[in-house]
Amino acid sequence: MRISVIGCGYLGAVHAACMAELGHDVVGLDVDEAKVRKLSQGVAPFHEPGLPELLARHVASGRLRFTTDPTQIADAQIHFIGVGTPQLQGRLGADMTYVHQAVDTILEHAVAPQDGRPVLVAGKSTVPVGTAEGIAARLAESGRDIILAWNPEFLREGYAVGDTLTPDRIVYGLCEDRAVGNRAKELLDECYATQLAADTPLILANYPTAELVKVAANSFLATKISFINAMAELCDATGGDVTRLAEAIGHDDRIGRKFLQAGIGFGGGCLPKDIRAFMARAGELGVDEALTFLREVDTINLRRRDHAVNLAEEAVGGRLVGKKIAVLGITFKPDTDDLRDSPALDIAGRLWARGAELAIVDPAASHTLRERRPDLNVPETVEEAVTGADVVMLLTPWREYVRLDPSSLISLVNSPNVIDGRNVLDPHEWADAGWTYYGMGRGVSA
Ligand code: NAD
Repeated sequence: MRISVIGCGYLGAVHAACMAELGHDVVGLDVDEAKVRKLSQGVAPFHEPGLPELLARHVASGRLRFTTDPTQIADAQIHFIGVGTPQLQGRLGADMTYVHQAVDTILEHAVAPQDGRPVLVAGKSTVPVGTAEGIAARLAESGRDIILAWNPEFLREGYAVGDTLTPDRIVYGLCEDRAVGNRAKELLDECYATQLAADTPLILANYPTAELVKVAANSFLATKISFINAMAELCDATGGDVTRLAEAIGHDDRIGRKFLQAGIGFGGGCLPKDIRAFMARAGELGVDEALTFLREVDTINLRRRDHAVNLAEEAVGGRLVGKKIAVLGITFKPDTDDLRDSPALDIAGRLWARGAELAIVDPAASHTLRERRPDLNVPETVEEAVTGADVVMLLTPWREYVRLDPSSLISLVNSPNVIDGRNVLDPHEWADAGWTYYGMGRGVSA
């Protein structure tokens, strides 16, 4: 099939490359010239395991192209919308400008195929419920045979290629008019034939349900993380160990073990802005009371960042001015270079504002961080970062940091204090090696 993907960021670039991997002929459109230049050379503009190989292969074969020229999308049968829906400045709601621009682009440039089938617009961006109805109405007003499906995306950064090629479910939000819905379904079925043949669960829903599925899933995940972080607060107050607690409750299938990792909380380009936009939309719909719990989820999450800063102060015995802190990991999670709403970056900023001298290392984001914050010290190696440190803070659980040897590091630091912002180190191993270990909801071990 001929496919266009509008918006080639973390979602769109991966989607475009994976659609080419499935055998489709794909053009990716973005307004960011630098990004398109890299993608057109078969080079990934961000860190995502598996993406460079797919880009290199399919750009070379000619099956995958990237452009800033909207006329290039004209003959696509399906136009996927993958543009950003960031949080509005100073407000909770989502900025829908880019989605509406993408629809404008499609209306201006899409050309109906000669086979009697419609042009399908498939929304993948995460949007406030009600968006699809509005877009469908705009497409209908155009008087052309352009129809809409909402096809929310569930990929996780770091696993995005696998999640796109072998998703754990596919959701089609279809028009309630059966005839229109069936025509959209037929095209999506053809597009996802490989996944459907592999028995990937397919959920058919109307537009609002499909839009809600995505924000409901993210709200649930955010709630689970804030729940265990609330338990971490209780553990800190009582001498409990939240990692044991999580293990014990997680054995109950109804609860499950995943997303029960207490620490410095969630971040990234999705969870925080999605729960906020969901609350804002509920307010507009007059059902804000249904989501007041999400306010608490957000508050608990942000409190973790304060707690990490407080622990650093505790570790140095008071003021942070002039204290050297080694920050290991600055991305919002491992296996990505994404710094959007990263708790680690926020915590580092607060430590810096309190006068601490920072040395920050990250396996994927050092380069971006140096560009963005030339005032920060971003050395190449963990050894350089921890040399002379008063506190070592592990804030992103990259594998290489989880495996660090406390015995070999201790000779480099000024004071052997380690704050395990993700509860991934063994407190006994670090304490036995001579460190004072601060966990998140598992006390202090020395
Ligand atoms: P992103 O910021 O990485 O990418 C968005 C891209 O859209 C940018 O490259 C931008 O230049 C481009 N763009 C903006 N306006 C455009 C226009 N008019 N025409 C063409 N391109 C345009 O964002 P992202 O992380 O890829 O997220 C995109 C959407 O997908 C959001 O709604 C997000 O919530 C959702 N989503 C993201 C993920 C994820 O893990 N990143 C997962 C699921 C859903």
